[in-house]
Amino acid sequence: MAPEEKCGALNGKYELGRLLGHGTFAKVYHARNVQNGKSVAMKVVGKEKVIKVGMMDQIKREISVMKMVKNPNIVELHEVMASKTKIYFAMELVRGGELFAKIAKGKLREDVARGYFQQLISAIDFCHSRGVFHRDLKPENLLLDEEGNLKVTDFGLSAFTEHLRQDGLLHTTCGTPAYVAPEVIGKKGYDGSKADIWSCGVILYVLLAGFLPFQEENIMAMYKKIYRGDFKCPPWFSSEARRLITKMLDPNPNSRITTSKIMDSSWFKKSIPRTLRNK
Ligand code: ADP
Ligand code: MG
Repeated sequence: MAPEEKCGALNGKYELGRLLGHGTFAKVYHARNVQNGKSVAMKVVGKEKVIKVGMMDQIKREISVMKMVKNPNIVELHEVMASKTKIYFAMELVRGGELFAKIAKGKLREDVARGYFQQLISAIDFCHSRGVFHRDLKPENLLLDEEGNLKVTDFGLSAFTEHLRQDGLLHTTCGTPAYVAPEVIGKKGYDGSKADIWSCGVILYVLLAGFLPFQEENIMAMYKKIYRGDFKCPPWFSSEARRLITKMLDPNPNSRITTSKIMDSSWFKKSIPRTLRNK
């Protein structure tokens, strides 16, 4: 650990512990707030990259929005600190690991998948109604708490990731476009809410199938399939699940289903947990 991660910007308020995970541009550590003894997850990002791409103001705006977005299915951002070289995001610690560790052994039952999907859509709908879009929904951003509740991370921070990518800094590490909507690949202007719905469609497919809807060795072949919305549902999908996924993976963002219509679909409504009723 770099010495400035131990003190500096953290003003002695947090003690950093073990590494919990790392993503495309950040490292996430377990940390303890020494003032109240509470554990948090501390995301540490190199500042140099951010300054290079002129993102400081945008990040500040995004962060102020994120602090207002409080929802049981979204990882809470407690505070943001900065040192000379790094930005620190103190976040709610989520202890149950990534959702996709659950399907590493195979697909989920439809009723189990529905429970996670309902929480995902509830979080997405909540943020969209406040003008906040994720734009980078994928398995590693879906965590589970100890009770098995789904928590979306990195909400509102996506613009940050996007700009780093445009700078070319992340091109080699940003991985697969498997979850990205066709209009996002096309780099035309796009509607963040429609792009999020596409990604949720891919996530639902993966939960029910145990594999990706658009999977090709060759990346250009994968793009082609995404552009055409060319996928097949396996025979074990119920007809209601099939119908919903087809409406979410509509390559035309204008006719793609909305969150309110998703929540009104027969597959979604089959069993609504008490925690999501009357929302
Ligand atoms: P990046 O934005 O660089 O992709 P992430 O925010 O996705 O970084 O974090 C990387 C990894 O750290 C995640 O995949 C997850 O395993 C772990 N992680 C992130 N946030 C938390 C959190 N709030 N609680 C526990 N683990 C987390
Ligand atoms: Mg991430």
